[in-house]
Amino acid sequence: MDSYECYIKAGEIVRRLKEESRPLVVEGARYVDVANFIEDKTREYGGAPAFPVNISVNNISAHDTPTLDDPRTFTKGDYVKIDMGAHVGGYIADTAYTVRVDSPDDDLVKASRDALKAALEVVRPGIQTNEIGAVIDETIRSYGLVPIENLTGHGLEQYVAHSAPSIPNLDVGAGVKLKEGDVIAIEPFATDGAGSVMDDETYLIFKYISDRPVRLQLARKMLATIKNNYNTLPFAQRWLSKIYSKRKAEFALKYLVRSSSVYAFSVLKESDGGNVTQAEHSLIVREDGPEIYT
Ligand code: MN
Ligand code: MN
Repeated sequence: MDSYECYIKAGEIVRRLKEESRPLVVEGARYVDVANFIEDKTREYGGAPAFPVNISVNNISAHDTPTLDDPRTFTKGDYVKIDMGAHVGGYIADTAYTVRVDSPDDDLVKASRDALKAALEVVRPGIQTNEIGAVIDETIRSYGLVPIENLTGHGLEQYVAHSAPSIPNLDVGAGVKLKEGDVIAIEPFATDGAGSVMDDETYLIFKYISDRPVRLQLARKMLATIKNNYNTLPFAQRWLSKIYSKRKAEFALKYLVRSSSVYAFSVLKESDGGNVTQAEHSLIVREDGPEIYT
């Protein structure tokens, strides 16, 4: 398969899993069951997870994913953002949707979804990334809500989940021109809060950075597993807990982060505690409009 076919195949997997996972996000369901379902099916359908399924609820905006024995369950009215990625040969499809649990969609859900739709309508070669941001900002503000200014869309390169260019969710004044064939993800976030996110200082998602001297034998072994299984793509503490036990995974990951072999992504929360929604598609920039493959 060439790179194009890989992108399309990865896209087919997540498109199918968006449909299949949505009915699972109901009151009382466990986060970890939804994450495991999507990740297991991603493999069954012929891909691999490009990153752990992010399940970020209410004011938690991104980078949350359940632990192996996570007791958390959904509550009626929760704003649940399911962000999933599949890759085939390192070529990534990245997509997200928001469910308001057992409740009809409200303006907060509609705002990010409409902003994504509006953004997709203006994508073409020659448009600047900040012009896309302006469209997102305008659409979300028309609902009396605000975009999250420090979360962005991004390019997608082989084995790189977030590459240049970044696609802002507002007009940041300057940007780069998109060109035919660029592969990008656009992901508006809307909130009734302050419009920014901050670190929650909880770490559940990691990625390999570089080989550094690692004295601890368990950590050395784990680093080899990480490189072998996940390459440079993000992975979950939960995944290593399945292989090594949760206690060992937690311990060795802390050690690997301290030694700068592994990077830890902080869970991100809305700065003012506002609720947050997200919508995301991956696409290829084409003369006659975006080829949305998720
Ligand atoms: Mn995503
Ligand atoms: Mn993304």
